[in-house]
Amino acid sequence: MDADVIVVGGGPAGLMAGAAAGMHGAQVLLLDKGQKLGRKLAISGGGRCNVTNNREAAEVIRHIPGNGRFLYSPFSTFDNRDIIRFFEELGVTLKEEDEGRMFPVSDRAQAVVDALLHRLRQLHVEMRTGVKVTDLLFDGSRVAGVRLADGKILRAAGVIVAVGGKSVPQTGSTGDGYDWAVAAGHTVTELFPTEVPLTSAEPWIRNRSLQGVSLRGVQLSVWNPKGKKLVEHTGDLLFTHFGLSGPIALRCSQFVVKTLKRFNTPTVRLILDFFPVETGDDLQRRFYQRWQSAPQKSLKNMLKSILPERVVPLLMEQAALDPAITWANFSKAACHRLVSLLKSFPIEVNGTLPLEKAFVTGGGIHLKEIVPRTMESKKKTGLYFAGEILDIHGYTGGYNITAAFSTGFTAGKNAAEQALGTRA
Ligand SMILES: Cc1cc2nc3c(=O)[nH]c(=O)nc-3n(C[C@H](O)[C@H](O)[C@H](O)COP(=O)(O)OP(=O)(O)OC[C@H]3O[C@@H](n4cnc5c(N)ncnc54)[C@H](O)[C@@H]3O)c2cc1C
Repeated sequence: MDADVIVVGGGPAGLMAGAAAGMHGAQVLLLDKGQKLGRKLAISGGGRCNVTNNREAAEVIRHIPGNGRFLYSPFSTFDNRDIIRFFEELGVTLKEEDEGRMFPVSDRAQAVVDALLHRLRQLHVEMRTGVKVTDLLFDGSRVAGVRLADGKILRAAGVIVAVGGKSVPQTGSTGDGYDWAVAAGHTVTELFPTEVPLTSAEPWIRNRSLQGVSLRGVQLSVWNPKGKKLVEHTGDLLFTHFGLSGPIALRCSQFVVKTLKRFNTPTVRLILDFFPVETGDDLQRRFYQRWQSAPQKSLKNMLKSILPERVVPLLMEQAALDPAITWANFSKAACHRLVSLLKSFPIEVNGTLPLEKAFVTGGGIHLKEIVPRTMESKKKTGLYFAGEILDIHGYTGGYNITAAFSTGFTAGKNAAEQALGTRA
């Protein structure tokens, strides 16, 4: 035997799995094909690493729309509060930002990676980089070890596969683990990009008139072709040269992907509410009050005082309004057109950027084939999966790294206890 437990992949799931296996007494060998460990982790959260979220566990799970409920079980072993404690005990003080998002006080994602590596060294976990695994090895229904790209075989009682999804492949996540899972008898659900910018062929997107404009505190909803609202999110939105980005566009993206596929339509309708905290009547009142105090102002200038300047010509055009119009000749019908556009501005989107450009891979190893309490495969004894390779995906906000740490820790603990025969 080369180790009690082999961990394949040095992302958050693999690093945490290695630490947990070491903490539970196993001799651990961690392999990664990259030259550096935690590459995606080190660029996460805009280089600051949104390491977890401080909300109640049930709220965290609610923000993981891709099978978050599966996590109730791994959370009973290691949840978001355990993650916070884990890093604070290693000297990485965390701070809470909006919506419960937790970051290192230093604002350095590398501090999170370094703390994990420090803990692994303390636990005498052997880490080998530049080592590519090509296959899993089995002895009947038991895992036996892994084969490396140079043909070498490494044997262990337990193997944890934590090689990530297919997004941002330059960080090492190239989807190698899906074929291994299938060879072990697992099902891999369809992969798709999620938490990904949206594309649109609207003429005002194509002519780049709004490129770079960002809106704060707006609401975006996704509608299916039958006119049913599927989801709505409030927050910040960014217009790009190809479509929409920013937190709420990312959150809507999986619903766009699924609706395009399910209804086989070329576009999906989004509705943008520029002023979600006000009703149409509130908005009209505010609008009138402002304008009445300066009745000579043109409609265009009035709108510039409540909206980003570059949005105004588009609104005028879409509502068929003369920008030079003043209070004196502004009809009720024109006002109604404008207010309804501000409350429900339609945007047709036709897709997303590709999986490689997505923050997260949707789909993955079917969860029915994994024991949630241990993260062990139901197909092969001693084989465990953790992290983004699983069919679990959350919104941005620390939820994906939380899922990786929680499933990683649970897999590591259980693989160690199984290998050492100490499982209760
Ligand atoms: C730009 C960006 C920012 C993000 N920011 C956040 C954030 O702030 N908060 C959040 O919650 N989520 C964030 N995410 C998502 C989050 O980073 C991922 O969900 C998470 O890293 C997945 O962890 P993982 O351990 O499963 O896989 P990965 O982090 O993808 O790690 C997989 C590892 O396996 C190794 N590997 C792959 N194949 C092999 C092989 N054949 N042999 C050996 N090793 C192999 C790779 O080299 C890699 O090191 C972000 C994602 C991106 C792309």
